[in-house]
Amino acid sequence: MSDVKKPERLRALPDASIPDLWLSYRRGPAPKCPNEGAHIALQVNSSAKCYRLVCIDCGIASFWFAPGEGGALEAIADDELGDY
Ligand SMILES: [Zn+2]
Repeated sequence: MSDVKKPERLRALPDASIPDLWLSYRRGPAPKCPNEGAHIALQVNSSAKCYRLVCIDCGIASFWFAPGEGGALEAIADDELGDY
């Protein structure tokens, strides 16, 4: 069975999928991880008032973002983050 390749696992949630995942998180159905279909949870950075989506199983995550007007997401650079 060693010649059977496993599907490639993502190491991060694809940037392009984040707006849809965020919408799904807020309105349902609950978003699922593309790797194994586990639930995706919201991690809150209270000092920078921003969020990211994280798989509760494999731990892949989105970029940090702040919800803007009209549902747009503003990406937050690492150096804008406080301790969390
Ligand atoms: Zn996962």
